[in-house]
Amino acid sequence: MCYNILYTNKRQGEHEIMKKFFIWLSFLLGITFITTLVAKPEQVLAAEKTYTIATDVTFPPFVYANADNKYVGIDMDLIKAVAKEEGFKVEIKPIGFNAAIQAVQAGQVDGMIAGMTITNERKKTFDFSTPYYSSGIVMAVKPGSGVTKLTDLKGKKVAIKTGTSGADYANSIKKKYGFKTVTFDDSDNMYDDVKTGNAAACFEDSAVLEYGVKTGLGLKIVTKPTNTGDYGFAVKKGANQELLAKFNHGLAALKKNGTYDKIIAKYTGKKALADKKNAASGHSEYTIMGLLKQNKTTLWHGVLETLWLTIVGIVFATIFGVIIGLLGVVPNKLAQGISTTVIYIFRGLPLIVLALFIYNGVPSLTGTKVPAFIAGVITLTLNEGAYIGAFVKGGIESVDHGQMEAARSLGLPFGKAMKKVVLPQGIKLMVPSFINQFIITLKDTSILSVIGILELTQTGKIIIARNLQGFRMWAIIAVIYLLMITILTLISKWIERRMKN
Ligand code: GLN
Repeated sequence: MCYNILYTNKRQGEHEIMKKFFIWLSFLLGITFITTLVAKPEQVLAAEKTYTIATDVTFPPFVYANADNKYVGIDMDLIKAVAKEEGFKVEIKPIGFNAAIQAVQAGQVDGMIAGMTITNERKKTFDFSTPYYSSGIVMAVKPGSGVTKLTDLKGKKVAIKTGTSGADYANSIKKKYGFKTVTFDDSDNMYDDVKTGNAAACFEDSAVLEYGVKTGLGLKIVTKPTNTGDYGFAVKKGANQELLAKFNHGLAALKKNGTYDKIIAKYTGKKALADKKNAASGHSEYTIMGLLKQNKTTLWHGVLETLWLTIVGIVFATIFGVIIGLLGVVPNKLAQGISTTVIYIFRGLPLIVLALFIYNGVPSLTGTKVPAFIAGVITLTLNEGAYIGAFVKGGIESVDHGQMEAARSLGLPFGKAMKKVVLPQGIKLMVPSFINQFIITLKDTSILSVIGILELTQTGKIIIARNLQGFRMWAIIAVIYLLMITILTLISKWIERRMKN
């Protein structure tokens, strides 16, 4: 008798916990859906002829972010002028050179303009516009390093940039000159490696390095340009032919009416070079406070995108994870098999591989674009959901088996026994794991910078690509992450306490 009363009281308490848990979950879900509709209407309504064009992040004077973190440069002005001329809109995706190549091939973007050299190899998978610039490849070193020619590279490390013709050239001569290569995704990281003395040299387009030398990059060119080639706007072979035709048509018009020459002069004329050099040497504003002030709007957008991604990711991962976890404990072999397999696959895959697979792999199979944000949410849902599934399953399994047996022997069917007796006790055990997983989700969003989502990490990369203040900027970004994690932890703890009361 006594045992029964105690048991009933405990059961009611746990029932309450479960009810509160689901109320909170529905609350989060509701908020998520409402904000999806309110905050992202432009994505829902994205209309007419807007082409998405991928580009590099650091490739001045062709593409770079200016002091307001807006993308400018010869390529940016050209594509915008062509769009105006031909009456279409462009949405620029600054994702980096190699990522842009993959995004075009996957059909995730309509085209790319990024100081891209037209090569025979690339013509197999891309269709190129008529050329708009030409450049060779040169070797650059740190001034005073004593490396002045190819033969000096013997036994040394050379920095290259993934997927570029400079990298191809370096790879083609590395045996002959006996050097090793280290690879970077962006030009500024490659330059940094040379400037810090880690790498003895780098190979890069002459048009870019000559500009860099004149504007205070701090590297020295030591070879004559070789492998000279033309730059072209590119689309995936056989796709977006109307866009390619418009580009060619527009470019011809810009060349004729003088706009093309104006754009080139705007970036490579004497005054442009002097201004850029002055801006580069104005280091006084590069204090932590100065950097924060200068980039506050951009950083704020990054923070919002990170939070948004985290919230949506957590909500969907929780739903997915709870379903997968429950499937793992129902007395049905098929359901258990599905649960185990899903957990095995998505917990086993590195997040970055999963993100690239969903963003670049799947669309090239299905032929439909997946917006980066959606691809990011799917990635988080599958990966974080698998972890949640595992501890939901584990949490339920760790509830004493006697509980289920007792409930069943009292005549409760499996579902009811699970819902009323086992789950409430299990959820209590899971709460700390949930909180932990939410924090991990927030941190994991930073990996999604690889698919070009403009969350905090990608925002940081872009700012640094412009001001080259890696140390200070990453410190700022680390502190912002810690702040966000602290707030998330406090909220989670608060919810945990409320659920306990
Ligand atoms: N022109 C070089 C290439 O096409 C480099 C381009 C770039 O780094 N944006 O490979």
